[in-house]
Order: sequence, then C-alpha cells, then structure tokens
Amino acid sequence: MVIGIIGGGQLARMLALAGYPLGLKFIVLEPAADACAAPVAEQLRGDYDDETLLAELASRCDVVTYEFENVPARAVELLIGKVPVYPPPEALATAQDRLFEKTLCRDLGIATAPFAPVNSLQELQDAMTTIGYPAILKTRREGYDGKGQVVLRNRDDLSKAWKQLRGVAAIVEGFVAFDREISVIAARSVSGELKVYDLAENIHKDGILRLSQARENDPLQAKARQIVGDLMDKLEYVGVIGLELFQCGDELIVNEFAPRVHNSGHWTQNGALTCQFENHLRAILNWPLGATDLKGRAAMVNLIGDMPVSQDVLRHSHAHLHDYGKEPRAGRKLGHINLCASDETLYAEQLQALRKLAGEI
Ligand code: AMP
Repeated sequence: MVIGIIGGGQLARMLALAGYPLGLKFIVLEPAADACAAPVAEQLRGDYDDETLLAELASRCDVVTYEFENVPARAVELLIGKVPVYPPPEALATAQDRLFEKTLCRDLGIATAPFAPVNSLQELQDAMTTIGYPAILKTRREGYDGKGQVVLRNRDDLSKAWKQLRGVAAIVEGFVAFDREISVIAARSVSGELKVYDLAENIHKDGILRLSQARENDPLQAKARQIVGDLMDKLEYVGVIGLELFQCGDELIVNEFAPRVHNSGHWTQNGALTCQFENHLRAILNWPLGATDLKGRAAMVNLIGDMPVSQDVLRHSHAHLHDYGKEPRAGRKLGHINLCASDETLYAEQLQALRKLAGEI
C-alpha cells in the first residue's frame, strides 16, 4: 500500500518511519528542497496545490493524508473523488477556522472560552462589552504556536491589537485562568473504531509546546474521552486528532484541535504500546487499531532552536532521541526527547536533567 502525505516535514517523516514495519510506502508532496521527510519517502517537489502533482499523488496512492492543517482547500478538492482523503475534508475545514471550531463545540454542548467573531474595530469594541478583560484576539485562520494572537488587557489595547492583526477576520475570546493545559490524542478508523490515549499535561513557553507528560488514571480522562469521542463522531473523523484543552477545576474547556498527529502525542512513540503515527496509518487504512496503554511514566521534551549533543541525551538510560535532521534556527522545532520509565524516582531525575539539556528549565 502507498500512502500519500501533503507536507513533508517532521510529522510526515515520523509517519513514514512508523509505517515501514507495516510494509507501507510513502510519497510526500512538499515544495521545500530540504524536506525533513525526503530521506524516508519519495518526494514530489512542488506546491501543495500543484494540479499535476496532486493528480500524480492521487493516481499512485491508495490513500492520501496530510501533516498540517493549513492544506489549501483547492488541494483537497482536486483529490476528492480520485482517492480517499483522511481526515475528512469537513474536519479539515472546521479545524482551519477558529470560529467554525468553537461553534461546532458549542453546538455539541462542549465548553469553550466565551468567544465572538470580529471583522472590524467597532465589532471588537462591541464584543468586549460581553467578553470582558483580559481576552485574546486571534486570527480565525492560519494561527499556530501562538502566532496571530494579541492579548487584550484593557480598552486602550483594542485599536493597536486590531491594527496588529492587519484587519483579517478574527475571533476574540475570553482569557481562561486554567489550572493545567492538557491534550488528548485519539484515533478513529474508517469503520468507527476508537482508541483514546491517556491525556497529556502540557507546558508551553511563548506559545510553543515545550513539555508533555502523559497522566495515567487522570481524574479528567473520562471527560476528555467523552469530548473527543463526541467531536470525532460528529465529524465522522478518520485518523488521529490532537485536542487541546484547558482544565479549570473539574471542568474541561476546548481550546482547539488539530486534524493530524500532534506534537503533544510524540511521547506515544516510546511511551505507549502503539504510537500515534502507527495508529493514524491503521485508522486511514481501516486496519484494526493498536492498544494505546502506557508503558510507564512517559514524557516528551521538545528541542527548539538548537540541538544538544546526542550522547548527552542518550547518557540518560530511559531517554530516546528523535532528531528531525533540520537546520538549526531560533524558534524552530528540531527534534524531541522521549522518556519512559516505570520507576518514579528515575523518571523524575531523568526528566529534570533532560529538560535542562533542552534549555526548557
Ligand atoms: P493556540 O494557538 O490557540 O493553541 O494558543 C497558544 C497558547 O496560548 C495556548 O496553548 C495557551 O497557552 C494560550 N492561550 C490561547 N488561548 C487562550 C485563552 N483563551 N485563555 C488562556 N490562554 C490561552
């Protein structure tokens, strides 16, 4: 079987690495000359909406998926009817727009921060009378890792913030005073089989994920499972989803979801019986999904901007290094370290050391 992937970054690379033992082959569509997935997949080099290359992808692949949510709608339109595309286009369109995403949650009775669409400074000023301060103004589309977001602390911030977003369609949402940021990774196959991983507790810095720790038997697991299951059923979802939530007391509030394998699920490569990448492939092929049980205490530390010396990481007996082979650049995700250990003390000691190595603490 041949899997097509739109996008050739680290997520495509890790999908291919997980798929080889299953006998799968991979073709990625990616314009970059130094595509991270190129060493492990055939690359069709060109734009994501290149008609000729999409036709080639459709004719040579059994199923097409994507590794980022900002896939041009046109690319998906060109594939539909020629080859199965998963996750489904409706899920992609919803995840591409924060207003659609939050509206869907509200319609399903899933809690979100209070929100309102804004298309002008006047609308922003009006919305703030009900949303209240502090709040966050976000672009509806194409924001990620905290990009395209401005915090609003009082009325004086509004006109500057509106200018900063350059007048694009936006959403304003109330600031959530959360206790924890968590995420839940789940996989749903073509026939509707669902597997949900143990939720992860996440730490971000400057809007970028730095640390994820899986939490076994978390008191909010059942609630998280219900929310992600409801969303996936509604979207007739196929593949892996990454759902980001805020915890406030015993309440869960949805922030956003990514219709793809997710950075906060990378710990599953070494910390779960079946990793998110393999389960994504199984799901889109309608193969049985693998067990998602934890193998011990599990964590992932992102490597951002520069890489530590490999041996310094591997000196820690329960650490696993994942180097994406990318050129270092400030703020760029270059790799991650996974940690999995059954001994609590060893886990805590090694996690502390690895976080220091990654410059996270
Ligand atoms: P996002 O791009 O929506 O995932 O936002 C990036 C990060 O900004 C989140 O992981 C949170 O740390 C923070 N953030 C986003 N929205 C809110 C909110 N409504 N209230 C509090 N923090 C937020």
